[in-house]
Amino acid sequence: MNGRFLVTGGAGYVGSHLVADLCDQGAQVVVLDDFSTGHREALPEAARLITGSLGDAAALAAAFAEGPFDAVFHFAARSLVGESMRVPLDYFRANVGHGLALIDAAVAHGVRRFVLSSTASLFGEAAEIPITEASPLQPSSPYGESKLMLERALFWADRVHGLKSACLRYFNAAGADPAGRLGEDHRPETHLIPLAIDAALGLGPELTIFGTDHPTPDGTCIRDYIHVSDLARAHLAALARLEGGSVAYNLGTGHGHSVRAVIAAVERVSGRAVPARAGPRRPGDPPILVASPARIQAETSWRPRFPDLHEIVRTAHAWRRDHPKGYAPNNT
Ligand code: UDP
Repeated sequence: MNGRFLVTGGAGYVGSHLVADLCDQGAQVVVLDDFSTGHREALPEAARLITGSLGDAAALAAAFAEGPFDAVFHFAARSLVGESMRVPLDYFRANVGHGLALIDAAVAHGVRRFVLSSTASLFGEAAEIPITEASPLQPSSPYGESKLMLERALFWADRVHGLKSACLRYFNAAGADPAGRLGEDHRPETHLIPLAIDAALGLGPELTIFGTDHPTPDGTCIRDYIHVSDLARAHLAALARLEGGSVAYNLGTGHGHSVRAVIAAVERVSGRAVPARAGPRRPGDPPILVASPARIQAETSWRPRFPDLHEIVRTAHAWRRDHPKGYAPNNT
């Protein structure tokens, strides 16, 4: 693949899978990352690294000095709904303030295409399932609101400056690089699949199921888990589509799985029981979030390669089994 790309947050979970994809295809990649949550070990040799925050004007200037870029992929952000309810202004500073600085710099440097990591949190407690791009945007957290604000800024950056953008609303990113090079390593980990795997492997505590009295068939929340490599490939599909104008896509598989179904999948894959107990609901958790991926499938050739929960869990489990300390050195 020809081209030179800036990837902010390229050392993070989803970003690193895109960087691997781009480098595998022969693209030139510059990563801007401050390693607040990313991992140096997740970056391939071929990627050029600028260490620093988007909030640091010098780091931003250093990154754009590596251009010109054919596109910017913007992953660097804070992304925890619960945390955003505790420190909302930090989320607006990091996600909106720093995001605007990046968009500004992209426009100033003549970048024509921008791909934003957005979120299903834009939709809050969705009234209709599956959630389409026409569903009401009504974020129920500062995290979701911060991404909506950035989407709006990109809308106007297109109208006024001609910067074409793809806003990709991720549902639940999960799984790991099928080639085993990359995986999920959040600290602290808050996500269901890695926590269930750690509980099964004896690497973490018993899992707490956040609510067994939700209005769902088994009482636990339903989510649309999408393989992280499929998510990464969707960025390239969306990018190719930008010639036709800016787009927003909901990115999931269109299939929902309950917390209990995820636990059962982890037990099947690992061959071990997942120690788990029922706990109270987690504030802000909508009972059901399932995407309609119809629009991206109609407008691009993107299809999930790993739509099955079993495959998603299998790749996540394989990486964790082989990296019980995540990206920490001296893993074994
Ligand atoms: N969940 C759970 N126990 C945990 C972590 C998550 O029951 O320790 C549930 C959570 O309530 C949600 C689903 O698992 O319904 C997925 O949560 P996760 O944090 O992975 O992603 P989110 O949907 O919040 O983006």
